[in-house]
Amino acid sequence: MDAGCLYVVATPIGNLEDITARAVRILSEVHVIAAEDTRHSRRLLDHFGILTPVRSYHEHNEAVRTEEFVAALAEGKNIALITDAGTPCISDPGYRIVHEARKAGFPVAAIPGPCAVTAALSVSGLPTDAFTFHGFFPRKPGDANRLMDKMTEWSTTHIFYESPNRLTATLGRLADEFPDAQVVVARELTKKFEEVVSGTAGSVQEHFNHARPRGECVVLIHTESADPGASLDDEAIRAQVADLMASENLSQRDAIRRVSQMLHVPRNRVYAAATRSPWNR
Ligand code: SAM
Repeated sequence: MDAGCLYVVATPIGNLEDITARAVRILSEVHVIAAEDTRHSRRLLDHFGILTPVRSYHEHNEAVRTEEFVAALAEGKNIALITDAGTPCISDPGYRIVHEARKAGFPVAAIPGPCAVTAALSVSGLPTDAFTFHGFFPRKPGDANRLMDKMTEWSTTHIFYESPNRLTATLGRLADEFPDAQVVVARELTKKFEEVVSGTAGSVQEHFNHARPRGECVVLIHTESADPGASLDDEAIRAQVADLMASENLSQRDAIRRVSQMLHVPRNRVYAAATRSPWNR
């Protein structure tokens, strides 16, 4: 008997017309659909006349369900994995069953389609050659600071999911750290009130201070700008950071931020100069 296949099926992030023809066919043909929220998915399945049995699969039962589903694959049953919206496993349940199915040697097939990360990036107008998706923006200030420090090291477009009630606070943090960077917020993509706002983090925050954000949001930021400090010597930058740390008792992080503002040099440039090992100078 052939083993079953686990299909990882993307579903719309708002507009039902965005489901693919292949996704509808696979959802109709498999033996069972593993859904994050069965009631939520029932609406989608009813809309397309899909009668396949649905089983719940979410973070609270994923260990038990993974065992059941892997056993079903061994019996030759085909399973489609879906979540409430978009691509399973992308800030959504699914990782464990995909991991275990692959580990057991069963076929796993992607049925690609909507995903808020790529949809937002594609309309952002920010550089797309390299991008880094961080999932939801960290809630704890310490975690957020550590991540923003790391972001200064990478020259990519950084992408976050964010809830509407934390959006302006997150934009405020980004404005403090990256006052000149280009920021885009993509809200309610593919839905009636779709909105894409761009500017500096400060100006986008200002926009949402006046028009309270609702619905679902993706935040994108490109931290590298043209290097206005290209003519500055790394050693001079490093010395300024060290001076500030000593004279004002600042942490390295705060000193880097101050020097970046004083010299109008991107923080990643100051960070690189200040943290370069003495052996590489
Ligand atoms: N797996 C999904 C995907 O492929 O995009 C993401 C699931 S995650 C739990 C939900 C988050 O995705 C939302 O809080 C929001 O940040 C983002 N999101 C989902 N749909 C969106 C939409 N239509 N417009 C903007 N952001 C969206």
